[in-house]
Amino acid sequence: MCCKRLPGSLFFCGALTVTMINLPQAIYEQLLAHLQDCYPAEGCGFLAGSNGLVSHHYPIANLLAANLLASITAYQMEPAAQLEALLDMEAHGRQLLAIYHSHPHSPAEPSARDRQQWYYPEAAMIIVSLAERQRPLIRAYRYQAGRFTHCSLAIV
Ligand SMILES: [Zn+2]
Repeated sequence: MCCKRLPGSLFFCGALTVTMINLPQAIYEQLLAHLQDCYPAEGCGFLAGSNGLVSHHYPIANLLAANLLASITAYQMEPAAQLEALLDMEAHGRQLLAIYHSHPHSPAEPSARDRQQWYYPEAAMIIVSLAERQRPLIRAYRYQAGRFTHCSLAIV
């Protein structure tokens, strides 16, 4: 049994903390297409695989993009799609490697809200800045000893 529940999160898996993300070019392009579709709202999703190599992309709807107070500075994953993606990973033995979201108008750095609402300490946080919409900037972070540090990310 590798997974247990934590308050506010769906799963907490006992796998090693992600220290490096290798993101295949084709999946990177899918991710960017999803984030461009969500623009000017934030887009979000999961990246899964093993040994730091991403093999699956799970775009997830952002609830805050669809409500009346549509936010362009926050995201909240649609819970059913989030659960479905996590169950699919577990069923196929894939590790949750990273959770990504976009910053349509700000730098690719964790916001105060991103830091407060990080429920996946083992996964990397990937942020894609679309401040220059045609020149996306992607950065990865990992949570370690109570703070976020840069995580290696390579497009392969
Ligand atoms: Zn953010």
